[in-house]
Amino acid sequence: MPPTETLTHADTEPDIAANLRTVRSEIAAAEKAGGRVPGAVTLVAVGKAHPAERSRAALEAGHRVFGENRVQEAEGKWPALKEAFPETQLHLIGPLQTNKVRQAMALFDVFETVDREKLARALAKEMDRTGRRPDCLIQVNTGAEPQKAGVAPEQADAFIAQCRDEFDLPVKGLMCIPPVGDEPSLHFALLREIAKRHELPWLSMGMSADYEVAIAFGATHVRVGTAIFGQRPAR
Ligand SMILES: *Cc1c(COP(=O)(O)O)cnc(C)c1O
Repeated sequence: MPPTETLTHADTEPDIAANLRTVRSEIAAAEKAGGRVPGAVTLVAVGKAHPAERSRAALEAGHRVFGENRVQEAEGKWPALKEAFPETQLHLIGPLQTNKVRQAMALFDVFETVDREKLARALAKEMDRTGRRPDCLIQVNTGAEPQKAGVAPEQADAFIAQCRDEFDLPVKGLMCIPPVGDEPSLHFALLREIAKRHELPWLSMGMSADYEVAIAFGATHVRVGTAIFGQRPAR
């Protein structure tokens, strides 16, 4: 379970190394319970909205895979950290505007939120220009929420095919963020089903509140923020 800490003052620092150990052991237990291969699930530590020192603490504790949801925030935080810890893998887990693709390509190692043709085209173009080919995930709006990013479930098949065939993107899998208050397992099951149809190996699903459920449904990547870094300060 996530720690119940409620962080209100900068001087109440969460014990990030201890939180990482807890989350890792719960991931290992969920892998075992689900008959998954040990180590099948990658923990993406989401330090968004926290100061860079918290990500540094996780790096010093040996963690190497991180997620950020805003390009601009990541640009302020990660170049120095990546220089200090060059094997770091940074995932973009928030919406990407096409006018930020160039900056994002310079910094991120995995794009989890490919969700529309214009973005897919821009990523393909930037990959051609730079020769970089970061892994891509297609974000599916499994709850069909009008305000949420992601391709609609009924358009997912066509969009996945287009990303692969027309844009030649290195599509590795799918990502979803279930609607708040919904039973997440229905969304995880839907995402797994779409991935299976396309023989896509990666499923990024599950956050602090539901990553164990997500692992039971086949998650290969869980994106965990609060359980590692504590409550986020208001933006
Ligand atoms: C913030 C965020 C997370 C982490 O959420 P927690 O509930 O703090 O674990 C995961 N995925 C995405 C896309 C996010 O924006």
